[in-house]
Amino acid sequence: MFHVRVIGLKRLSPSFLRLTFGGEALRDFANNGFDQRIKMIFPAPESGYKYLEEGERWYSALRQLPKEHRPTVRTYTVREVRPEVAELDVDMVIHQADPDHTGPALEWALNVQLDDELVVLGPNAQYAGKHGGIDFQAPLGSEILIGGDETALPAISAICDRLPSETTGRVIVEVPDSLDVCDLNTPAGVEVTWLPRNGHPRGSTFVGSFCSAADKLNISSVHDSVDDIDIDRELLWELPESESTNPGYIWLAAEAGVVKSVRKVLRSERGLDRNALALMGYWKEGRAI
Ligand SMILES: Cc1cc2nc3c(=O)[nH]c(=O)nc-3n(C[C@H](O)[C@H](O)[C@H](O)COP(=O)(O)OP(=O)(O)OC[C@H]3O[C@@H](n4cnc5c(N)ncnc54)[C@H](O)[C@@H]3O)c2cc1C
Repeated sequence: MFHVRVIGLKRLSPSFLRLTFGGEALRDFANNGFDQRIKMIFPAPESGYKYLEEGERWYSALRQLPKEHRPTVRTYTVREVRPEVAELDVDMVIHQADPDHTGPALEWALNVQLDDELVVLGPNAQYAGKHGGIDFQAPLGSEILIGGDETALPAISAICDRLPSETTGRVIVEVPDSLDVCDLNTPAGVEVTWLPRNGHPRGSTFVGSFCSAADKLNISSVHDSVDDIDIDRELLWELPESESTNPGYIWLAAEAGVVKSVRKVLRSERGLDRNALALMGYWKEGRAI
């Protein structure tokens, strides 16, 4: 766990707030890049971090705390870390379109001030074992298709920063507003398509565009059996089970219902080999994950 303080706040666009955290501990934060996920642990309403336990059993201990003393845990992505100056950037979506559906992370972000404290669970460079939390695992030399909504944009940006310069393929991103479109640091052979919703329903053009782009990749159809996933009860998080020999690779992270629609086409209808696909529901419309 890294105990940090907010040292920078920057509204990047209508939907994004960049939080920069500082703290000496960040000198040990591992700079792994790609879609490195972290847990942001928000202070409990009445007692902040007083009852937060550290160590291996931290999560089960946290779950046993009464609500007013229980910090809230949500998953985010490292947009950039600069261990040499002990700084960490996280880009948070300000999803305030629906006032009935705010959550603790959003509430915190709407009220955040410089010098506020936060606890981040992330990879420690001093730890020699596997750090985990990176799901972009494109085999070297594969043609890629990367896609997602606004919650995946920080991960997509960080993945693009690390793509080898000879990479070819496409990136398709759905964002709430045209003003959320930003520069991605992609290799010359990677084409970027932005799909701003501008008030249209989530996924309405994204699903078709993403599936057509997938059709152009060289991924074999194996037509194995595909289980139905009840996204109201389970997480949609489907990663390759073994190394892929396909020339194409797909990474998708978005709202679970949108990912489910894409999965239906790519896996159930086209029968694509799951070992070339990473399909992740980053959040679920209408409920806290
Ligand atoms: C691996 C991973 C990486 C992620 N990285 C990022 C990141 O870098 N930046 C980022 O902003 N998010 C990221 N997310 C998504 C983020 O964890 C969720 O949006 C989270 O639910 C927000 O928590 P909350 O407390 O605001 O809302 P919750 O308490 O989880 O949910 C409350 C309500 O808000 C709704 N809601 C939640 N998120 C959104 C949204 N984005 N738009 C509209 N309604 C929403 C829910 O459907 C629910 O009705 C990531 C998720 C995963 C799994």
